[in-house]
Amino acid sequence: LPELPETETIARDLHAEVKGMRITSAMVHRADVLREIEHGALDDAVRGLQIARVWRRAKLVVLDLARDDTSANAPVTIAHLVVQPRFTGAMLLDDGTLPADQLDYLTVTFTLADGRSLHYRDVRRLGTVSFMSVPRFTQYSGGLGPEPLDAEFTSEEFSALVRASRRSIKVLLMDQSRLAGVGNIYANEALWRAGIDPSREAATLTVFESTTLLSELRAVLRASIEARGTSFRDYRDARGQRGAFVAQLAVYGRGGEECLRCGAKLVDTHVIDGRTTVLCAYCQR
Ligand SMILES: [Zn+2]
Repeated sequence: LPELPETETIARDLHAEVKGMRITSAMVHRADVLREIEHGALDDAVRGLQIARVWRRAKLVVLDLARDDTSANAPVTIAHLVVQPRFTGAMLLDDGTLPADQLDYLTVTFTLADGRSLHYRDVRRLGTVSFMSVPRFTQYSGGLGPEPLDAEFTSEEFSALVRASRRSIKVLLMDQSRLAGVGNIYANEALWRAGIDPSREAATLTVFESTTLLSELRAVLRASIEARGTSFRDYRDARGQRGAFVAQLAVYGRGGEECLRCGAKLVDTHVIDGRTTVLCAYCQR
């Protein structure tokens, strides 16, 4: 799944491309990806609105929609399109030159005032596109945990979160209601960097360990954003490109290979949460 860095890359690229652009129509090809709106109502709901901003919350791409009123000093957001790409979803901008193979599996297409199209493509259709009012989005976002890269989120708050959990530290890191945007890849990477065994009960971490973990989590997320994310399966950024961070992964996908820190053979296990966990049994304690 695209996690925080991949979603951030998608959102930043889209923002640079479509900020201020008016939506002239919406066409629904596959209604089963839509949430919180009837497929017949989407076109009426978004037509004429301006995309004021594209940003990321957790693993969601959020498009702020505002009235296209040039007399206003700043556009006032009146609704949000919330895209959750999950396994195979991708937001693709099309100026008419997008390769034909990328036009398969389109689910929703927004036509923009300059003639370009913004497609949501999803092979397996496990991702979703939601249309939310501002209060509804505020409520929805309130159910998600803090953003790990938010400067206002302190290591004291993170330590308190960790101390309060009896679950494994890896499972806690990936719980979207406790901390937003972290999935399997970056949980594995951050725990290896911090030298912490992913199966440890969260509450047993010392303040020093949880502070180190947050710092390493932030470092790996920032490094991955810098590299435009990790490529895997169908992930593509808004330009249809793969991310480069895969070359910098220390543990994820490296089970059976040597630990980059101590040379021991990395262990691959599914016992913690049913998902792949890769760790070094020697330098993660
Ligand atoms: Zn090691």
